Amino acid sequence: MDKKLQKKLKNKLEQEKKKLTKDLSSFARKDPEIKGNWLTKFPFFGVGRSHQDETAEKIEEYEKLLPLEHDLELRLRDIEEALEKIKKDVYGKCEGCQKKIETKRLEVVPEAKLCLKCGKEKA
Ligand SMILES: [Zn+2]
Repeated sequence: MDKKLQKKLKNKLEQEKKKLTKDLSSFARKDPEIKGNWLTKFPFFGVGRSHQDETAEKIEEYEKLLPLEHDLELRLRDIEEALEKIKKDVYGKCEGCQKKIETKRLEVVPEAKLCLKCGKEKA
């Protein structure tokens, strides 16, 4: 891959990583037991005794945050994997057919693991 392009994509990945980590930190914390795992903070913590209606609202909020946390966590993992690949100089290779992933695709989704064709087949 073109070094200049790779550098550009690496910057993009690093920025995205920062942003995702910040977003996740606002409502989740890193799991001390499992690397790469995040735990959604339960809204009760530190709140003390609250009104029952308020409690129900908080549970609802928590349930909404769970899938969001999961999504962000998976993206963050993909981004970290992509950065790892750049380090090992195997970045931009499709995990399906081992061919190069289209540059256009990487510019939109720099953490892509599959080329357009394989991505379509999977979906
Ligand atoms: Zn492929």
